[in-house]
Amino acid sequence: MTAPAPGATGRVRVRDDLAGMAPYGAPQLDVPVRLNTNETPYAVPPEVLDDLAEAVRGLELHRYPDREATELREAVALHAGHGFEGTWAANGSNEVLQQLLLAFAGPGRSALVVEPTYAMHSLLARTSGTRLVTRVQPRDQPLDPASAADLVAEAAADLTFWCSPNNPTGEATPPDVLAAVCAAAPGVVVVDEAYGEFGASAAAGLLSRHPNLVVTRTFSKAFRMAGLRLGYLLADPAVVDGVRLVRLPYHLSALTQAVGLRALRHKGALMSHVVATERERERVAVALDRLPGVRVLPSDANFLCFETPVDPRPLWRGLLERGVLVRDVSGYPTLERFLRVTIGTPAEDDAFLTALTEELRQ
Ligand code: PMP
Repeated sequence: MTAPAPGATGRVRVRDDLAGMAPYGAPQLDVPVRLNTNETPYAVPPEVLDDLAEAVRGLELHRYPDREATELREAVALHAGHGFEGTWAANGSNEVLQQLLLAFAGPGRSALVVEPTYAMHSLLARTSGTRLVTRVQPRDQPLDPASAADLVAEAAADLTFWCSPNNPTGEATPPDVLAAVCAAAPGVVVVDEAYGEFGASAAAGLLSRHPNLVVTRTFSKAFRMAGLRLGYLLADPAVVDGVRLVRLPYHLSALTQAVGLRALRHKGALMSHVVATERERERVAVALDRLPGVRVLPSDANFLCFETPVDPRPLWRGLLERGVLVRDVSGYPTLERFLRVTIGTPAEDDAFLTALTEELRQ
């Protein structure tokens, strides 16, 4: 007798609006050169790890953690130069984004996503029951303040996502365009600055003039701590009050709070690679541009998005067979011929460039 398939009794039925969806996530493959999820390639230095372990050793793990993560949020607020009451933290900026949707969008409300952009914005909107409003921005028509204002006003969404620097293309939005978006949007504007530390991040400077602006950031990229799962937002205190209504009690573990707090003491060491990463990005961009038929997009982040002269899907697989994992972004609107590569160590980037050169020669 064969066992019934999961859910075969008809009692385990996923929500109708989730049926047919696939779980989101880049492939986690054990290959020598992993350049597909935009982490920092450099490990946390051993002396910093020792200090983090020290912080963990002092914890009372039999007790629930501080529900408000007060000490951590105070330190994050100081780090970001923003008021404590308008600073909030959660498990990665993804959880921050989810909390924002639950509090300010959800059933009966809408969220605007301007494609091509970070896929989780639309996915989180859908899973939170928010009506998704999608606009596609043609590659050859960069938005100026007036056209950006028209776009968000016409979309009339309760929550507008704006990714700057944009993943997967890489470019940051100029401050005058961000200001126009905030002024014209009828609801909350979430500027996702996951990669803000790699260029000149601009959105936080607009917070005092735009109470509908929320800036989200993460410890996962420039801060070198993707494994910690810590992200935060900067906004008007009213935004934090809203998010507090939907957060789970004790959502940030004592471990996350303690390690995040202690890690901020070492921010100089943890972020010390940023200048070198920016320089390395320019080196890789020049090398890519020299390859026949390859065109690289301008980037303010720790990755490069580039157009390939051949079908990117077999090219992605060919690179993988040579031990180099990059991101296939050819499924995004307007990026049918593009791949994305994270800036790694110079040795990893050389391995990528060599593999790509050889693949394109075939
Ligand atoms: N925003 C953008 C634009 C991202 O690329 C990512 C991670 N890839 C995130 C948010 C989420 O990062 P985390 O949850 O690790 O903070």
